[in-house]
Amino acid sequence: MKIIDGKLVAQEIRAEIAKEVAVMIDNDIKAPHLVAILVGDDGASHTYVENKRKACESVGMTSSVYKFSENVSEKELLDTIDFLNNDNDVDGFIVQEPLPKHISSEKVLEKIDYRKDVDGFHPINVGKMMLGIDTFLPATPFGIVKLLERYKIETEGKNCVIIGRSHIVGSPLSMLLSRNTNPGNCTVTICHSKTKNLAEITSKADILIAALGKPQFVTADMVKEGATVIDVGTTRLPSTETKSGFKLFGDVKFDEVSKKCSYITPVPGGVGPMTIVGLLLNTLKAAKNRK
Ligand code: NAP
Repeated sequence: MKIIDGKLVAQEIRAEIAKEVAVMIDNDIKAPHLVAILVGDDGASHTYVENKRKACESVGMTSSVYKFSENVSEKELLDTIDFLNNDNDVDGFIVQEPLPKHISSEKVLEKIDYRKDVDGFHPINVGKMMLGIDTFLPATPFGIVKLLERYKIETEGKNCVIIGRSHIVGSPLSMLLSRNTNPGNCTVTICHSKTKNLAEITSKADILIAALGKPQFVTADMVKEGATVIDVGTTRLPSTETKSGFKLFGDVKFDEVSKKCSYITPVPGGVGPMTIVGLLLNTLKAAKNRK
């Protein structure tokens, strides 16, 4: 069994991005600029945005955060998006979810200029991805595809089972892995909470991707001998083993599944670091697309 080291691959790709940014700066081209919009006081959202900001700076990109209180009006938020859409100094921006209930995520998403939608969630970008047209890809699926590519894991003709059909992970990943590309050309089965005989389906997977958000859900009996297992899940649970009092759990029972599979991503240190890389790659792309 081989561990897929997402931290290491993320470091490698970040170094490549940093080189490209340095070349831009050497040629008097402005460094890519990412803006994050953060609404409210949700601790996890603050941490995610801070990590994205730090990641940008580590590769020489510019980053800014627009912070709003929980009771910001929908209009003010939409006006800010309008402003960023038209600000030539900004290459891409993201609106950190979750948003307060009085703000429509759909309206916010549709307001973003798809050319600056580095999260890859705008309907135009989702449509382009579906059609195989070059565009921003959602960061987590993008990162997973990069991991498979860097580890040279054969995907063509393989049975891939994805547990979870969310718009940010499962659904886009099913599209990317079934396309006529490399990585790709898998026969993809997508499972969800209404799937019957789940273990029977997962145990036929050459590539099993768990993205359901249920800690330790995938057990050894659900996995085919020699499969590649990608664990997307990240659930923070109280723990006496750590200083912080919390521990991050994946969707896969690592100890028993790792004995059976050929490749596996750990949690933490697997998919997580690659998600930020996906965002950095999209931001670099947005800057290269500048008019
Ligand atoms: P989500 O929106 O809650 O979607 C979960 C999906 O899993 C849904 O499609 C749901 O089915 C399905 N599901 C739930 N219970 C199931 C069960 N018992 N059997 C089969 N399918 C089941 O979650 P998400 O946003 O995609 O995130 C999934 C996990 O990945 C979470 O732990 C999240 O924290 C993690 N995540 C990690 C990263 C990273 O960078 N590492 C990035 C994104 C997400 P229904 O559609 O029928 O409800």
